[in-house]
Amino acid sequence: MAGFSIRHVSKVYGGAVPTVALEDIDLTIHDGEFLCILGPSGCGKSTLLEMLAGLQLPTSGEIVYGDKILQGPDRRLGVVFQDPSLYPWRTVFENVELGLEIRGVKKADRKNTVQKYLTMVGLDGFEHKYPHQLSGGMKQRAGLARALANRPDVLLMDEPFGAVDHLTRLQLQNDLLNIWEAEKKTVVFVTHDVNEAVFLGDRVVLLSPRPGKLKQIFNISHQRP
Ligand code: ADP
Ligand code: ADP
Repeated sequence: MAGFSIRHVSKVYGGAVPTVALEDIDLTIHDGEFLCILGPSGCGKSTLLEMLAGLQLPTSGEIVYGDKILQGPDRRLGVVFQDPSLYPWRTVFENVELGLEIRGVKKADRKNTVQKYLTMVGLDGFEHKYPHQLSGGMKQRAGLARALANRPDVLLMDEPFGAVDHLTRLQLQNDLLNIWEAEKKTVVFVTHDVNEAVFLGDRVVLLSPRPGKLKQIFNISHQRP
């Protein structure tokens, strides 16, 4: 287990008119914390999350994870996007199982692990359904189970509940907090919704509008049961 150290990170996208997405971000992400990254559309939240996932590299500066500079995707880092992109021809069970299959985990072990995480996200009984048979919230639950089944140390989530209705979203937020407390993982959660950030986060990092710069860090003290 380990945290991130983001040191003087900037990201510029090339093209006819280069876009400075992020400018000189300095931030430490602690092991086990629930950190929300908040800011208006276009401030670079997704860019920052993709860099934490090793899916993009900084233009300058560096991101250290554990004791190494992050240079690409890493199995210890699980990612959940707004669109869970489940394979339509695979059942819920088979979608969650895929990462384990690719890693050569034995069938019996796969079954136990997949079932454990489907139960954890509230999808018991939906194992044999196909994605088109699920509501948006349930698809997102399946995406979360898929990420958890790979047993990452960190969950990187980009507006995961942005496309579900309000009540479903509140349920998903509560369930995610319970999972975070039970699993003791580091969670980095991107949102443009102030309520969501303050409800979920131990700390909320506010980015300024484009180019994204670190504006302020809020510590939230929760009275959680
Ligand atoms: P947010 O997630 O906060 O909405 P993004 O990280 O998606 O912000 O985008 C930050 C800025 O970088 C925006 O101005 C966006 O248009 C630009 N941007 C994002 N991805 C690319 C890309 N692949 N190529 C060029 N510009 C991009
Ligand atoms: P969520 O379960 O994520 O809160 P909804 O509020 O849309 O999603 O669904 C409420 C309940 O209705 C679900 O828990 C599920 O039992 C059932 N349901 C919703 N959509 C479907 C569907 N397409 N097929 C089968 N059952 C469904």
